[in-house]
This record gives sequence, C-alpha cells and structure tokens, in this order.
Amino acid sequence: MEGTIIIPDTHVFYIFDPELKPVTRVKPGSRVVLYTKDALGGQITSENQVVTNIDFTKINPATGPVYIEGAEPGDALKVKILSITLGEKGFVVVAPGAGALPYLTKQAKTRKCIVHGDLVEFLDYKIPARKMIGVIGVASSEKLTTGVPGRHGGNLDTRFITEGATVILPIEYPGGLFGLGDLHAVMGDGEVCVSACEVPGKVELMFDIIKNKAPLWPIVELGDSTYILVSHEDLNKAVNEAVETAVNTLSRGLSLDWYDAYMLASLSIDIGISQLVDPRKTVYIRIPKNILSLDKLLEALSKQ
Ligand code: CA
Repeated sequence: MEGTIIIPDTHVFYIFDPELKPVTRVKPGSRVVLYTKDALGGQITSENQVVTNIDFTKINPATGPVYIEGAEPGDALKVKILSITLGEKGFVVVAPGAGALPYLTKQAKTRKCIVHGDLVEFLDYKIPARKMIGVIGVASSEKLTTGVPGRHGGNLDTRFITEGATVILPIEYPGGLFGLGDLHAVMGDGEVCVSACEVPGKVELMFDIIKNKAPLWPIVELGDSTYILVSHEDLNKAVNEAVETAVNTLSRGLSLDWYDAYMLASLSIDIGISQLVDPRKTVYIRIPKNILSLDKLLEALSKQ
C-alpha cells in the first residue's frame, strides 16, 4: 500500500535499550510493516538441529527499533495490530532443563510444524492456528533482553496479542523505540514445553499516542475485553500483583470502595496464565469493557 513504511528483518535488536539507534522515524497514523525472523533467529531449518547447538546471542530477535514522533516519557503508545502474516514452516523445540517441567526434560528435541491457512500441522494433528506476537515492547531503563517480559512489554507470549488487538505500552524514552518479533502460529496458555510453533512472518500495524497515560503494566484490548499483563519471576507474586492491580484499577476507575471493588473483581474478572516458561512468568487479567471502559481503565492504571 502506498505510504506504508516497510522494515525488513535485517534490522533486529536483542535488548530493549534506550541507547539503540532507531531504524526509522514514523508519525502516528502511518502504516508500518515489520518483517520478523522466528524466535530462534532462523537458525533451525530442520528437525535434525536442536537448540543446544545454536547461538543463544541470536535468539528472540525483535525488528526495529522504531522511533514514533511525538511519543514522550509518560505517554501511552497504542499499537493497533492490523494484520499478521505467517511463514509456512515453523519449529517447536524443547531444551534440557527448560519449560514447565525442567526436571523431566533431559534432552533437546525439534519438531517441524507446517502452517496451512487456518490450520497448523504437527505430527498427524491439525490444530486451528492462533497467530500471535510473542515479543512486543519499547525501550526501558531495565535494559532487559528481548527474552524477558516486563512493564515495557517484551517477551509477553500472550495469545491475545493478535490481529485486531490494540497493545498499549508505557513510553519511557522519547520516540518509544518500539520493536516486535517472535510470531507464533499457535500456542496454548502456558507455552508449557518452552516454545510455540515459532515462525517468521510480517506484522502490519499503526501507532497512536495517548498523552500522559503511561500504564503501569502492558494492556491489550481485544473484542469486548481488556487484558492487563503482569510479569514476575515468581508465579504467585505475579498473581498477587495482577489481582491487586485489577482491584485498584476497578476501585479508582469506578470510584468504588476497595472492598466493593474486590468483590466486583471476584464476580467479573478472569485471571489466566499467559506463559510459564520465560525468566519472568506472565499472567493476564481480563476485565470486560462493559464493567470498565478502556478510557477509564487507562486513566486508573496510569495513576498507579
Ligand atoms: Ca516468546
């Protein structure tokens, strides 16, 4: 499409670092297409190769960073995901000592998965595709690698980050310095074996800026729901932080007494696991929009 800014997968980075030089500068409202390598950096091309033999400095490449004009510290960056196009071939991997069952995983193994339209073929199984973006974020003072999720986004591995969703991230540095990668053709909640069907591809998106509304944690808006994504090294602490954030957000956003907000949360919100296998675990809180609108949620979540 005319006027679309295209960023090839040769422009990648591995740390959400404020000192990185941007690949390009874009204005809010521009259409941007980012081509992405798979999470393994394209290093695995057959089932005979295993993750123990690849260069770990080249995993989780994020395409970018993109400087968004007008984005200032304290603002919220809205990223509308217009489309996701997947490559035809992906890989699922396991690695010794990794995943949700590290004590049982003694060896590395690789399997191919083939993307056929709306289906993903794995062994003899045809699994409905659920395409999603694993890594999406902006530069942060934490200078985390692209393998770690946090307040800036990063390796969130959350299946709601898909076509039609809007991801909202807190801007910490001028221009935001945005990047994404790690597309998945399909992944179940938890990503238990440590990987999804990891595929290369491309993402078409559009940025917008909401002044002075940087949220405490990343937000995803999709359909009739808003999700708050909270990450912590300890799963129980991630759960506590997520529920506390949700209750505080309901209390402030709806001007409710904290106990009433706690009860309303118990009746109307869902908590779930995004992923269990990254250095920090990610949980999601789903808040129906008919309980709390996105505007009120953002207002409440940017003040915490
Ligand atoms: Ca990932």
